Amino acid sequence: MENKSFAVIGLGRFGSSLAEQLYSLGYDVMAIDENTERVQDSIEIVTHAVQADSTDEQALKEIGIRNFDVVVVAIGADIQASILTTLILKEMGVKRIVVKAQNERHGQVLYKVGADRVVFPERDMGLRVAHNLISPNVLDFIELAEDYSVAEVAISEKMHNKSLIELDVRARYGVNVVAIKSGRSFNIAPDPSDVIKEGDILIVIGQNNDLKHFEEEM
Ligand code: ATP
Repeated sequence: MENKSFAVIGLGRFGSSLAEQLYSLGYDVMAIDENTERVQDSIEIVTHAVQADSTDEQALKEIGIRNFDVVVVAIGADIQASILTTLILKEMGVKRIVVKAQNERHGQVLYKVGADRVVFPERDMGLRVAHNLISPNVLDFIELAEDYSVAEVAISEKMHNKSLIELDVRARYGVNVVAIKSGRSFNIAPDPSDVIKEGDILIVIGQNNDLKHFEEEM
């Protein structure tokens, strides 16, 4: 396993869940929060947990924040603290900075002050749940660009035992099947003659509108 180390600043629901997951995957995780109680609560689920205000450059230096491969800023409500923290981390020369944003505007500012990646967990989860509600066959949905997404779709009965060429989803819906999941096996870049069986899951890519038609028909 790659020996990557992570620091997570801000132990709200998102930050603490991320820190716990990284730690349980076997990585070195330092959890940081200004709130002592939050720090106490995470002691058991990470490698180290410390109390510090991330807008205080000296405090970050003492922690040795520069030594981590990735630093995640998961401060939500206090937008000012999130921006200032990102700026300080950038100036200190942190290798990779990932920041959680509250909204698009916040995200734009974060990129300007040096974030390498900005994530929008609430927006993305809302999107996924919306697609799952439109069609229960949609298991997952990830936006790739403004108008392009990837969807994971459980096939309906009418698709059973049909080949991709018979279904002709590209011509009918304008979407491309990039993979077929069959139980534990994964058929990447399937052949047009490959047959879809009951229980299979299709990974499709396309424009949002085309995906929507496809999802509705499924
Ligand atoms: P979630 O939705 O993930 O629960 P949230 O949007 O509610 O997050 P907040 O509660 O605003 O997030 O912040 C997450 C954590 O960040 C809190 O535990 C808070 O104490 C911590 N935090 C806020 N500002 C700072 C700071 N300057 N330094 C360190 N920690 C901070």
